[in-house]
Amino acid sequence: MALKLEPGSRLVVATHNPGKARELAEILERRFELVAAGDLGLAEPEETETTFVGNALLKARAAADASGLIALADDSGLSVAALDGAPGIYSARWAGPGKDFAMAMRKVEERLEEVGAEDLAAWFTSALAVAWPNGPAVVVEGRVDGTLSFPPRGDRGFGYDPIFTPQGLSQTFGEMDPAAKDAISHRARAFAKLKAALL
Ligand code: IMP
Repeated sequence: MALKLEPGSRLVVATHNPGKARELAEILERRFELVAAGDLGLAEPEETETTFVGNALLKARAAADASGLIALADDSGLSVAALDGAPGIYSARWAGPGKDFAMAMRKVEERLEEVGAEDLAAWFTSALAVAWPNGPAVVVEGRVDGTLSFPPRGDRGFGYDPIFTPQGLSQTFGEMDPAAKDAISHRARAFAKLKAALL
């Protein structure tokens, strides 16, 4: 069976974050009818896998099987080379229940000082998974490489954007025009792969 997404299909987006749902809708160019998992009253599964791909698949699978609709889920985060890939899949959790990313960015800086890191290489990863109810699933991963710098700069973007400068550029993601970030981001790269696979 060829796995293709027909335009106009109803998709459940397995995110309880309205900002992310909107961003996903933009990237999908309004080709689909999107329903948020939260609006269907679906429970958020615990992210128990050890990789971005594993967690994206787990979330898409749970939403598809519970709703009977094709589901799209993502998992993403920042990985720091000198910290063996941390915070990685724990990126959101480093900010605590209050989603305090100023604190999470300080934690990254402190850990780098603790290990005496000179290498400030880092990358963002986005895994995107599409699952059919009680059926197959497809997962892809996009990545953008860059360097960390402190103190944080810029108030655009979100999360760890103010400490991340993509390779070859001088502004942090927090300083960049959102459209410029979208053109090179890990999420955009993952979407390009997903589109190539499914559209
Ligand atoms: P998730 O909701 O489990 O995928 O958590 C992803 C976390 O990774 C977010 O809360 C952010 O902290 C971080 N993250 C992912 N993508 C980005 C990005 O584009 N910029 C900054 N932080 C990001």
